[in-house]
Amino acid sequence: MCSFSRSTFRLQATDLFLSSLNSRCALETPPRFSFNRAVPTKVIAVANQKGGVGKTTTAVNLAACLAALGQRVLLFDLDPQANATSGIGLDKIEGASAYRVLLGEGSLLDKIKSTAYERLEAVPSEVDMCAVDLELARMENHLHGVANALKPVVDSGRFDVILLDCPPSLGILSLNAFVASDGLLVTLQCEYYALEGISMMTRVLGQLGAAGANPRLEIFGVVMTMFDGRTKLCNEVVGEVRNLLGAKVFETVIPRSTKLAEAPSFGKPIIHYDKYSSGSAAYELLAQEVLARLNS
Ligand code: ATP
Ligand code: MG
Repeated sequence: MCSFSRSTFRLQATDLFLSSLNSRCALETPPRFSFNRAVPTKVIAVANQKGGVGKTTTAVNLAACLAALGQRVLLFDLDPQANATSGIGLDKIEGASAYRVLLGEGSLLDKIKSTAYERLEAVPSEVDMCAVDLELARMENHLHGVANALKPVVDSGRFDVILLDCPPSLGILSLNAFVASDGLLVTLQCEYYALEGISMMTRVLGQLGAAGANPRLEIFGVVMTMFDGRTKLCNEVVGEVRNLLGAKVFETVIPRSTKLAEAPSFGKPIIHYDKYSSGSAAYELLAQEVLARLNS
């Protein structure tokens, strides 16, 4: 049984149950959030140069939960590993990625694929994206490939939110994602080195701003992932991150959950794989927080 205090962590069993019921109501009745069509598309990069910290899990599940809340969502897989592509139930198909578009050939609008889920579409990735970093590096405007590719999609007004799933590096592809974004959603795994990720990202953000590449870019939010309330370390890390980053850190903490780890092998976001799991409740809550932040 978890023994930490309510003020430091929301996902105690009772809270989780009640919250889960609340968010379930939000999904099963008409969405309470009515989108104002005049609000421009928001582009959010899910990022952390550290590997395996829950970027893709968050991008896929947040995308699905935002779509379930009535948002028109595009999930853009920028990682050659293509985990978001398979996690959302799409195949990795040769020629289907944004590779050529990022190099200036064709339109990203033609690369958008529908998914099995209403209001959720995706630009898949595949192994050819490995070469994009090198190819972009040779181009004159090498930081603007993703921004240029996204422009017609943003201008089309077809989506409310575009989530970019970034690779685990601060290479050219990630920097391109940052230049194209309104904000960064940083995932931090509840572990000892969690804060290292954020300090490097903050530095890069400052450098991009100073270079005039994207001065408006800011950290949209920080989400703590793979929380295990039974360990003292997890509780300490969450406390430390909250002390340092304050309101940037989302109230919702994503628990470590077997169901969340299993869902990608079925090509399903957690709300469509196990609607009543703790992981599903957590991502539903996170989506509500994200939406509130986007609309504020
Ligand atoms: P990469 O840097 O390689 O792109 P990532 O940051 O995108 O990794 P994920 O792929 O989302 O991280 O997660 C890494 C692994 O941890 C995956 O096997 C995933 O299923 C698992 N995982 C992610 N979040 C959770 C969670 N909350 N509970 C249990 N397993 C999780
Ligand atoms: Mg990933």
